This record gives sequence, structure tokens and C-alpha cells, in this order.
Amino acid sequence: MEFEPVIGLEVHAELLTKSKMFCGCPTKFGAPPNTQTCPVCLGFPGVLPVVNKKAIEYVLKVAIALNCRINRHTIFERKNYYYPDLPKAYQISQKRLPLGYDGWLEIEVDGEIRHIGIADVHIEEDTGKLIHGEEGGFEFSLIDYNRSGIPLVEIVTKPEIRSLKELEEFMVALRQLLLYLEVSDCKMEQGSLRFEASVSLRPKGSSELGTRVEIKNLNSFKAVLGAVEAEIKRQQQLLMRGEKIQQQTMLWNEKLRITEPMRTKETAHDYRYFPEPDIPPIVITDEWLENVGKNLPEFPKQRMQRFVEQYGLPIQDAKLLTASKASADFFERCVSMLQQPKTVANWMLTEIQSLLHDDQIGWEDCPLKPEQLAGMLKLLNDGVISGRIAKSVLEEMYRTGKDAQTIVNEMGLVQITDEAQLRPIVDRVIAENPDAVEKFRKGDEKVLGFFVGQVMRATKGRANPQIVNKLVRELLKGR
Ligand code: ADP
Ligand code: MG
Ligand code: ZN
Repeated sequence: MEFEPVIGLEVHAELLTKSKMFCGCPTKFGAPPNTQTCPVCLGFPGVLPVVNKKAIEYVLKVAIALNCRINRHTIFERKNYYYPDLPKAYQISQKRLPLGYDGWLEIEVDGEIRHIGIADVHIEEDTGKLIHGEEGGFEFSLIDYNRSGIPLVEIVTKPEIRSLKELEEFMVALRQLLLYLEVSDCKMEQGSLRFEASVSLRPKGSSELGTRVEIKNLNSFKAVLGAVEAEIKRQQQLLMRGEKIQQQTMLWNEKLRITEPMRTKETAHDYRYFPEPDIPPIVITDEWLENVGKNLPEFPKQRMQRFVEQYGLPIQDAKLLTASKASADFFERCVSMLQQPKTVANWMLTEIQSLLHDDQIGWEDCPLKPEQLAGMLKLLNDGVISGRIAKSVLEEMYRTGKDAQTIVNEMGLVQITDEAQLRPIVDRVIAENPDAVEKFRKGDEKVLGFFVGQVMRATKGRANPQIVNKLVRELLKGR
């Protein structure tokens, strides 16, 4: 029998608010442990939470962008369980009345457009972070409460993802959207974006859902894809043997590339949700909703299409440039200063992209500014520097933050266009290479390139190649 996988995702993204969900503590990543805490986020008895309005606004943005319906009257609820990373022994979340529900996100797989249903978009608070270690034969666990109480958006899909390809596209599109909305930095290596996947199989063509297995704590696209692939295989083998799938929660073992049970049958968790008595219901007024809706940014797909129309870029370039909001913004800022879209696109997608790639960072963290690129390209246009020098200037700008003109002045990189200055160098190169001169005499024009290359080398790339070309011809003919 042939089986079809059914996949659902639960996504947690930390919101980019300056302060936490229910207190004024800062949310900056990387501070020394337990320095960003207070009685509220440490769960002391008797303290009162105060809702962060910005966080609600951010989740509202996400819900609207995911085409959700909005619960205009909503409440917070307590999800009760005890764990060392949860000092209150409950998490403030939303269950019955999520801020957003019943939406969709568009993805494209092999040229085909699909809408993946979104069941639920809600707010909750993050837990602290447990750090397990070992020293001198002793195992220990440490806890950092800096993360405790950072606002999260949880996005739950309907079980409508049908393949690994769709799964990957969905994650890429969702991350792209969250970055465009500027509600999360989505840094998976810092835990700002985390996934849980549910997987079941069913006979191909069936419309019923099979028993699902949930895989927790997936912290990268790679982990999600690896875990889901392994889980599909595992279930397939069980079903082929005529066995039943047990509903359970698994963890991904990246080393062995298998999913392993975390909790087995026991009793299913009962979180005893009940309304949070310390927070009044939230009312989303018409005015608030309208305001948030009006201030949404242009979405990736629209921006991509506009780049093609407005700047005459090839679709592929437009796609790459709008893949992140940061690169799209960089591009438009640069083009506003130098009206050469294709040139700017080329430099961004080759030279700068490769510098970013070497440093393993994204456009969000690009140290180079659009002003610097525009300045350098102007020098190139004006013939102040040669194309070859331009690349080194770019790298120097990227590393030092200086502008192109400063670098050119400091390093003496100004292009040599003065024939009187270049002629003796060409002369010398010709004198040093009698064999090549002989070849030229016998009609081999290819050696022209060799001479030009030698002159460029002698001038460390500063000579103007057109003028060198002309001089080489002239001086060779004169021989
Ligand atoms: P719960 O309330 O137990 O958390 P939900 O119905 O909210 O369960 O679903 C949680 C996640 O599991 C969602 O992402 C959903 O798409 C997915 N899911 C639910 N049923 C299945 C199934 N049979 N196969 C695969 N995924 C499923
Ligand atoms: Mg759930
Ligand atoms: Zn606090």
C-alpha cells in the first residue's frame, strides 16, 4: 500500500519587543545569566502582570498577515504544569480564544501555488532556559531566567502539509514573513524561532487522518526536515508490518538520525487551563485593528513583482533580493542614490553575498551600508577606480566601515589614466617579453591580453585597461 504523509507544525517565535510580556525587564539576547529578571518574571508570589501592548500588536500583525480571523474579545489563560524553567508553575497563554484563527499562508512548490491552513495564532510567554553540563564527573543543571517571560507568538498549522518539500517551503515562507513584519529576528541559532512537528501517515487518497506523533524541540530547518523524514520512514515500516502507530511525543536524535520517545503512554498532559484572573480581557477595537492593518509592510511576493516592473530586473534577481526584507531595503536605498538597478543587483548578489556567506551572516547583519556601495559604484562609473580595484575597495569598506573615497585616498588606489605615466611601464613589459613580441609579429593577437595583464599586474590593478590596451597595440606596432 502506498502511504501519504500528513504534517502539521507548531511554531514559536520570540517577539522583538524591548521589554518582556508582563514586566519591564529587557529582552536583549546574550546578557549574563539572570541579570534581566524581576519578581514578576521570577514568579514571586503576590506580583501582578501588566500586559505589553506592543506584543499584542505584533501578534495581531502576524494574524492579519496570515489571513486569520481575529477574536476581538480575547483572554489570557493559565496553562498549569511544574518544571524548573517555569518558576510560576504556570505559563500565561491563550487556548480557547486565540488572537487569530482559521487563516492560511501561501507557498509555491514546483510552480504550484498552495494555501496551508493556519489553525491558530496566539500569544504566550517564554520559559527560562535550562543548561545541562558536567564537570569533574558531576552532572549539573543551571537555569537562566533571562528568557522567562519574553513574549512569543505561537503559530499552529492545520494538518495540511503533504511533503518534505512543502514543509521546507512553508518554513521558509513563514520566516520570511515574520522578518518582513519585523516582529521577530527569527535567529534559530539563538532560539528565537523553534518548531514542533506532528506527523501521521494514511493510505494515499484517504481523507481520514492517521494517528499522529509529535516531535518536540526542533531548532533549525535541518532538524525539522531530518526528524520528519525519519519519522515518516519509521511509521511506514510499522504500518507495513501491520502494526499500529502509538500516539506519543518524540525527540530528534540528530546523531543517530532517529526519533526517540520522550514521553510514552502515561496519562496525557492535563494542563488545567483556566482564565488568568490577574489580567482583564483584551478588546481589539475597530480602530486598533484598522491601524495595525494599515501599517503592514509590502509583502515579499508583491515586492518581488514590483522589483521586476519598476527596476526591470530579471525575476531571479528580484526573487533573491526580496528573499529578505533587509536585502530588499538595501537594494532600494542604494538605487535611490545611484539609478543603476542591474549594477547594484549584480554587486549585491555576487560580491556582497559572498562576503556575507564567508561570515555566515544574513543581510540583517550586513556591516556594509547602501551608501557605501553607491559611493564606490560612483567612483567606478567616473573612472576613478578600475573594476578590479573596485572589488578590493568593496571588501575594505565591508571590513572597516570606511567609505570608498577615503579608502581610495588612503591606499592610493586611484586609477592611472595618464598615458605619459603608463607608457614607460608598457615599454618595459614589452622589452621584457621578446618571445611574446615575436608571436604578435607572426599575427597572434592573443598575446595582447597577456601584455595588458602584465601591465595591470605591474600597477597592482590601478591602470585603466582600455588605455593600456590602446598603448600596447601602439607600442607593439612601433617595434
Ligand atoms: P493538540 O490540541 O493536542 O495540541 P492540535 O489539534 O492543536 O492538537 O494539533 C497540534 C498540531 O498537530 C497541529 O500542527 C496540527 O496540524 C497537527 N496535527 C493534528 N492532527 C494531526 C494528524 N493526524 N497528523 C498530523 N498532524 C496532525
Ligand atoms: Mg498544541
Ligand atoms: Zn521581569
